[in-house]
Amino acid sequence: MSAPSKHETPKPANFLRQVIERDLAAGTYAQRRFGGSPGDGAHHATGPSDPARIRTRFPPEPNGYLHIGHAKSVCLNFGLAQEFGGVCHLRFDDTNPEKEEQEYVDAIIEMVHWLGWSWEAFGTSHLYYASDYFDFMYRAGEYLIEAGLAYVDEQSAEAMRATRGDFNAPGTDSPYRNRSKHENLARFREMRDGVHPDGAMVLRARIDMASPNINLRDPTLYRIKRATHHNTGDRWCIYPMYTYAHPIEDALENITHSFCTLEFEDQRPFYDWLLGALADGGLLQRPLPQQIEFGRLNLTYVITSKRRLKQLVDEGHVWGWDDPRMPTLAGMRRRGFTPAAIRKMAEDTGASKTNIWVDYSVLEIALRDDLEPQAPRAMAVIEPLRLTLTNWAEVFGATTHREPCTAPAHPQRPELGQRHFTLGPEVWIERDDFAEAPPKGFHRLFPGNKVRLKYGLVVECTGCEKSADGRVHTVLARVVPDTKSGTPGADAVKVKGTITWVGAHAASDGGGVAATIRLFDRLFTEPQPDAGARDFVRLLNPHSLAVAQGWVEPSLASVPADRRLQFERHGYFVTDRIDHTNASPVFNRITGLKDSWSK
Ligand code: ATP
Ligand code: MG
Repeated sequence: MSAPSKHETPKPANFLRQVIERDLAAGTYAQRRFGGSPGDGAHHATGPSDPARIRTRFPPEPNGYLHIGHAKSVCLNFGLAQEFGGVCHLRFDDTNPEKEEQEYVDAIIEMVHWLGWSWEAFGTSHLYYASDYFDFMYRAGEYLIEAGLAYVDEQSAEAMRATRGDFNAPGTDSPYRNRSKHENLARFREMRDGVHPDGAMVLRARIDMASPNINLRDPTLYRIKRATHHNTGDRWCIYPMYTYAHPIEDALENITHSFCTLEFEDQRPFYDWLLGALADGGLLQRPLPQQIEFGRLNLTYVITSKRRLKQLVDEGHVWGWDDPRMPTLAGMRRRGFTPAAIRKMAEDTGASKTNIWVDYSVLEIALRDDLEPQAPRAMAVIEPLRLTLTNWAEVFGATTHREPCTAPAHPQRPELGQRHFTLGPEVWIERDDFAEAPPKGFHRLFPGNKVRLKYGLVVECTGCEKSADGRVHTVLARVVPDTKSGTPGADAVKVKGTITWVGAHAASDGGGVAATIRLFDRLFTEPQPDAGARDFVRLLNPHSLAVAQGWVEPSLASVPADRRLQFERHGYFVTDRIDHTNASPVFNRITGLKDSWSK
């Protein structure tokens, strides 16, 4: 796919938009009523006509943190609802008691907010929990039994698997398929009342064991599972299957367009069968929600599976869910990504009927486009080497003299003001800005060459000092008088190189502040680490984190946490939202100034 441009472009292809436009034009959902909260058909029938022209939902299971793939779904659902005068519900799909935790619920709420979306609309908060619908789901189960559309099956799990058939062969009916409604109802109630052990029996839909769609061969609706649920505690010992619960959740919430990823395509006939049956029985109101599938978003060099991300956390390969290298939204926020960049990437990648792979650089381009105009500039030295200006006292009268320097906070935004710092005889420069024997084309410091210390003076290199092991520890140079940036003499001496620097004197005197600078690289060494059945843990990049002890200019002496900026020549950085303090500053590199991913 092509890189997003900085200019307004027409909205990218998104067939979901066309589906909504068509439904609105046809008035498909115009007659719906909304009872003010989720509920059955009778509840909604008592309400006024639905103020939301469409209703979508983002339905995460609270069994992990949201990742960049979820952001795609979040932005699609909330974005389309906003665009068409509707509302998007945030719904926790918490029907599976075992893996769900409050910690995840809280983290998901926080990250959807962070992305900039809200579920407050028409005077109501549309934040819902699927587990609040357990009563209705149970009632719907009894209704299906009474309608002859469901039965309790006591076959073993293996027997059920064996009789389901496959793509070539039809399934065979369970011996329990034709028992009486009365008996089914009694068994289902016993299941609910805890009379039978886990796994002893299940409730199944009674559809067609010979259906070419295997999902319609009497799918399981309810199972017995003694587990404490984070919302309903020990109230239930039977839990609905996802494929049964999800359509009901949509219908109770008056959802119009239920967008999901492609792997659910084969479930759509069951979705329609179930809701149709419940509407026929008067439990739900028509028009019913429609399920529409779109392609998943995959990003190169990252993993988008909660289960696998959890493994990275549990096995200690990363610091936690919010490790700045993680493709979780919590990690990306800590890394310094902006919500706007993530939303832009989601918008630019559109929606289609195929799963898509997006190059990581696309996200970084969106990020740089967002950061460039807003990030204040600063100087930092990441791998410091000492530069001593040997004629300082001669030129300025004393080694204690400090030469004041100013620089714009942002080159294109004078309204942001100026930064102030000072130059003295001892300076920190980048280690690779000096070469004792310069390679061809090297224009920075080497003996005999002149460079400008950016916003400061021109200096001429005279040599260097080394320790016993031969490593350079100090570069020596002489100040060229009257070459201060911004003064009339500044251009009298022509130089080919300009280098960034920080004064090696105290910050209180305009010199540098010591800082920890974290340089992140991709977490995996391969573009598709979780493709196939590979052991993705073995593809972790052992060099995904480098920590440097550097120096930053004194304007950053009291910068708050979670503040983004650009270190000139180095890239974009953010003060770590957890570890940064003014006493020990910590900067995370968000991304470089140029693309280094697509190479
Ligand atoms: P995971 O495999 O990471 O657990 P999931 O789909 O099982 O993902 P859910 O919590 O069920 O996780 O997902 C919430 C919503 O996010 C679903 O509607 C799902 O389709 C959507 N979603 C998840 N991953 C992606 C992705 N990579 N691209 C687009 N949508 C996604
Ligand atoms: Mg899931």
